[in-house]
Amino acid sequence: MLFDTHVHLNISQFNEDREEVIGRAKQAGVEYMVVVGFDRQTIPDAIKLAEENPNIYAAVGWHPVDAFDMEESDLKWIEELASHPKVVAIGEMGLDYHWDKSPKEVQKEVFRKQIALAKRVNLPIIIHNREATEDIIQILQEENAAEVGGIMHCFNDSAEYVQACLDMNFYISLGGPVTFKNATLPKEVAKVVPMDRLLVETDCPFLAPHPNRGKRNEPAYVKLVAEKIAELREVSFEEVSQATTENALHFFGIDR
Ligand SMILES: [Zn+2]
Repeated sequence: MLFDTHVHLNISQFNEDREEVIGRAKQAGVEYMVVVGFDRQTIPDAIKLAEENPNIYAAVGWHPVDAFDMEESDLKWIEELASHPKVVAIGEMGLDYHWDKSPKEVQKEVFRKQIALAKRVNLPIIIHNREATEDIIQILQEENAAEVGGIMHCFNDSAEYVQACLDMNFYISLGGPVTFKNATLPKEVAKVVPMDRLLVETDCPFLAPHPNRGKRNEPAYVKLVAEKIAELREVSFEEVSQATTENALHFFGIDR
């Protein structure tokens, strides 16, 4: 059994065959998933998928790339949705220094506001980080995010940052890049994260694992991620799939 902790089945790349994709995930043993909404369009679509499917849950937040576009009314709306029974986390949120659509200062402010929101509603957070690890860790520490804990989604930085994340009650989630031939950082991370803090994800439709790299990703492929982690840690696939599923159920507060 597997738990894909970060999917975007709520976006247009899945409009043609969403049901088939969900069916293939079940066949591959992917029992649970969290659909992540990140703006005005994808948040309601994440909730809708969670309402229609018993083992699909939703996370709601505002993406850092679009931080410039977030208004107070959006924040209020996210806070209201937090009480929905299928909403299990706030996010994705964070910092993205790769694209310059939103100025860094605006991103930081929107990030801090969402951490404060998560603390008010007592839900954990999901962090999107691109080329901003040090600023992210600093803000999480300053805002005392340890109070709610969170996930470093698709962690793609050096293993030296892992301990700081663990110290703040964070989990490390690995995705497709751990399978890429030339990716050394996530492979090192896969070996050092304690088994009880490890999660797996696809971030589909993005970042498809080897040998599907470059194609559209889907939740069934999370199996390839777990298999690669098992190989790197020299443990069985069953051990990785069972531990990561238990971790995710515990983290999101889901009773089976
Ligand atoms: Zn995402």
